[in-house]
Amino acid sequence: MNKQLSAGDHVTSKCTKCKDTTNHTIVAMVGDIVARVECNTCGGIHNYRDGATKKRTSKSKSKTGSVKPAKNSRTEAAWENQINEADPDAATPYNIKMSIKVGDLIQHPNFGLGRVIDTIKPDKMEVVFRDGTKLLRCCVE
Ligand SMILES: [Zn+2]
Repeated sequence: MNKQLSAGDHVTSKCTKCKDTTNHTIVAMVGDIVARVECNTCGGIHNYRDGATKKRTSKSKSKTGSVKPAKNSRTEAAWENQINEADPDAATPYNIKMSIKVGDLIQHPNFGLGRVIDTIKPDKMEVVFRDGTKLLRCCVE
């Protein structure tokens, strides 16, 4: 908290006549900066020469921590979120003979982008699409 100074307030400043840090009365302000002060010891008026009160308080920047994607979560909602954020270019076009594994991203001609959440031997896979989970034919290893 910065105490707002104004003319008439008392500050300590270096006085060239006293060659010491003495109590001063503020004579003039420029904005919120003390401009001229009167030395209480010698009565001399001079420019305020003490940078101490203008020290900027360094505010600690609050970094927004990067949220790690819940990769272990197998809930459909989590997978749907991943699909929304997934890069369509990384998806493999769906093919009945495609070899897939859980976690693969596929591009289906009708359902669009999907993520494989389960495989059912010998030839089925469960895929989450934007509009729900579908069971598709595939080639399960
Ligand atoms: Zn003085």
